Amino acid sequence: MNYQSTRGKSGESLESAQIIKQGLALDGGLFIPDEIPTLTYDEIESLRSLSYPERAATILSKYLTDYTYEELLIDCREAYCDASFPGGAAPVVKAKDGIFSLELWHGPTAAFKDMALQIMPRLLSRALVKTGEERTALILVATSGDTGKAALEGYKDVDGIKIMVFYPVDGVSRVQKMQMATQTGSNVNVTAIYGNFDDAQTGVKKIFSDSEAVAYLNENGYFFSSANSINWGRLAPQIVYYVSAYCDMLNSGEIKMGDKINVCVPTGNFGNIFAAYLAKLMGLPLGRLVCASNQNNILTDFLSTGKYDRNRDFHCTMSPSMDILISSNLERLLTLTAGKEKTAEYMADLASKGVYEVSADVKAKIDESFCGYFADESETAAIIKKYFNEYSYLPDTHTSVALCAAEKYIAETGDNTPMIVASTASPYKFAADVCASLGLEKPEDDLDALDMLVNATGTEIPYPLKDIASRTIRFTETVKACDMLDAVKKYVNG
Ligand SMILES: *Cc1c(COP(=O)(O)O)cnc(C)c1O
Repeated sequence: MNYQSTRGKSGESLESAQIIKQGLALDGGLFIPDEIPTLTYDEIESLRSLSYPERAATILSKYLTDYTYEELLIDCREAYCDASFPGGAAPVVKAKDGIFSLELWHGPTAAFKDMALQIMPRLLSRALVKTGEERTALILVATSGDTGKAALEGYKDVDGIKIMVFYPVDGVSRVQKMQMATQTGSNVNVTAIYGNFDDAQTGVKKIFSDSEAVAYLNENGYFFSSANSINWGRLAPQIVYYVSAYCDMLNSGEIKMGDKINVCVPTGNFGNIFAAYLAKLMGLPLGRLVCASNQNNILTDFLSTGKYDRNRDFHCTMSPSMDILISSNLERLLTLTAGKEKTAEYMADLASKGVYEVSADVKAKIDESFCGYFADESETAAIIKKYFNEYSYLPDTHTSVALCAAEKYIAETGDNTPMIVASTASPYKFAADVCASLGLEKPEDDLDALDMLVNATGTEIPYPLKDIASRTIRFTETVKACDMLDAVKKYVNG
């Protein structure tokens, strides 16, 4: 199977190992497969009795055809092992009648990015071998907290790769800072910068496109690579858990083969929900795909009007991983519904004017599968309290946005098809806001919120966040944003 750019201008047609290594297409587009592979009911039936890693290897082998099934199975078994996912890779938990929580946060950083970032580094490591690459890949990440930690955990001690993460020194929570500063692994570096997230992001982008820096790396046997959520190596693994959830729903007797289920996803960059769309196109019996947003409701507006307009205020919410105004993976949906030529036009409009509008027939195609709802801050808090008090289910702030959207969808349409809500983080990852939502006093230090949440709810701190205050700190350096390249050179030489 080959992959092409969503914008169709570069003429590239490449196998999966190459695009996982490369990330973006040369025309600035994202890679999508030439065709969507199929998944028959017989195949779903045969996946029912398999473990998560086995299900994952089967689905991935349909897309990554230049990897053998055996290679994928080894990688999936390592990525989704019990030690990394002691609560299961993607268990389905009944939250209340008709609403099921697909918990994607039992991995090493207690958030759903682990589902992709535990496997993608292994795919990249193999891609280096498959493409005859002799240099070491240096992954550079700018993070506002969560992605950096998930990337560090995924890339640590993977052959042929080193990773360096920059974060704003005063722009992450205490828990996030401790998580990163105590990172283990022989191929990792964490450096704080004076400035905000944008300074870190701009610094990393500048280094990527600095030809002198690229030459310097090359001389030293390195090349730059990124761990971005637009990389196909992060998207493909996300298709798996929707198929897996369907199998689990069959196994628990909630549905019969062929019954539809709806899906509601707390959305930022549109990666997670796009993976659900791919599962549906493959043949998984999914009904409506409900796109849930927080106060940054640009996608809700787009899905109801067909107009994507980023000229609006940016809100900092208690679901920060969804505070996004440019939803990169939406571009893949545009290509599948409007074609490459139109997509290139939309993206040019977005870059020059900050807005584009799809035609009525494209909107109609999108409407066949998608609809959007959003939750504001007080609705998000109220849902956390309601689900805990009435159903003994404690969601995090992002999952709560999705639960709220799911309830709005059901109330508005009366559609009682079973609804799977993607649960993207442990409540302990955002413990201070969860405590406040439950009506407790929000602690100054978010480390204190962990114990506070245990005492208030009787739930358990997930293993990645346990004893976090007492771990050994390895990384203490803070540099000026203008000195980031020097830090990279120092790391490469050290
Ligand atoms: C990244 C993230 C999201 C958004 O996922 P997208 O694939 O970017 O739409 C939602 N919730 C949490 C906790 C996340 O970390």
